[in-house]
Amino acid sequence: MAETKNYDVVVIGAGPGGMTAAMYASRANLSVVMLDRGIYGGNLNNTASIENYTGFKSVQGPELAKQMYDGATQFGAEYAYGTVTKLVDKGTTKEITTDMGETFVAKAVVIATGSTQRHLDVPGEEEFSGKGVSYCAVCDGAFFKGRDLVVVGGGDSAVEEGMYLTQLAAKVTVLVRGDHLRAQPLLQDEARKNDKMEFVFNTSVTDIVGDQVKVTGVKTHNNVTGKDGELAADGIFIYVGSLPMTAAFKDLGILDDQGWVKTDTQMKTSVPGIFAIGDVRETPLRQIATAVGDGAIAGQQVYQYINAMK
Ligand code: NAP
Repeated sequence: MAETKNYDVVVIGAGPGGMTAAMYASRANLSVVMLDRGIYGGNLNNTASIENYTGFKSVQGPELAKQMYDGATQFGAEYAYGTVTKLVDKGTTKEITTDMGETFVAKAVVIATGSTQRHLDVPGEEEFSGKGVSYCAVCDGAFFKGRDLVVVGGGDSAVEEGMYLTQLAAKVTVLVRGDHLRAQPLLQDEARKNDKMEFVFNTSVTDIVGDQVKVTGVKTHNNVTGKDGELAADGIFIYVGSLPMTAAFKDLGILDDQGWVKTDTQMKTSVPGIFAIGDVRETPLRQIATAVGDGAIAGQQVYQYINAMK
């Protein structure tokens, strides 16, 4: 049987929020481990260029992730690989199980699991995933040099990642289901100046089509005229919003009806000793800066919570 590992604090997720909470808690002399299902950095690893994080005019996501990791671990916080499958509240301790067969016991837990990208749920999407359908421009954009691409969505991610793709592709057509973009005005202004980018409004994707090997395009429906159409493309990048990564926490009674974690302003959930921060939280703004701010508050709060236990 695998041994149980004891820590003052387990931080679940090593994105910007989790790494900040780990830094604050370990700097307060608590023993801390960050658990993550992949490399530290979370969604930073899927982000090409960040222009709205204080202190950097522009920084690459993976580069910022590395700097945050170095900062987070400098006071002794550890990092361990594994997907958390269950979190059980045992009063003064919390038990965390991972798919690596490991069990961690902690006095306090910070949930910082973030979000994952929503799928379109149309025919062809799953079939052509990895064969032209992608959710990560930074990871897959290089496969499409000089090609015609479709981006689906109208939020910050669709516009920002679409602009990144114009550096590689011949043309990027952004299909927006409504009559306007939801992205920040500055991003919209930059995108409209980009010759390689075209926005097509009121247009939903109904099918993703391809041959035996790869994607060849999308079928579309115009939500105003009711007309159906087709658009040829070599790659389809889908950015239609995000879903909370909270499957392991659904029995704790801390989620809202959409699955995001409910907290107060001190990042406390309704379960004493369980905190939540960053994108996974029910919050009006999901940014690196807000995740980092949440992480600082949670790092300080776990210290006070554990001190009060003595
Ligand atoms: P989002 O803001 O939720 O936008 C989702 C977009 O996808 C909307 O335009 C939505 O259209 C569209 N959509 C949803 N379902 C669709 C469907 N079935 N078919 C076609 N379109 C569909 O998601 P996001 O852009 O991924 O951003 C997630 C969060 O991260 C946001 O809080 C965002 O601000 C943040 N973020 C920030 C930055 C930055 O600050 N630089 C960068 C990336 C992300 P409707 O408008 O019609 O609903």
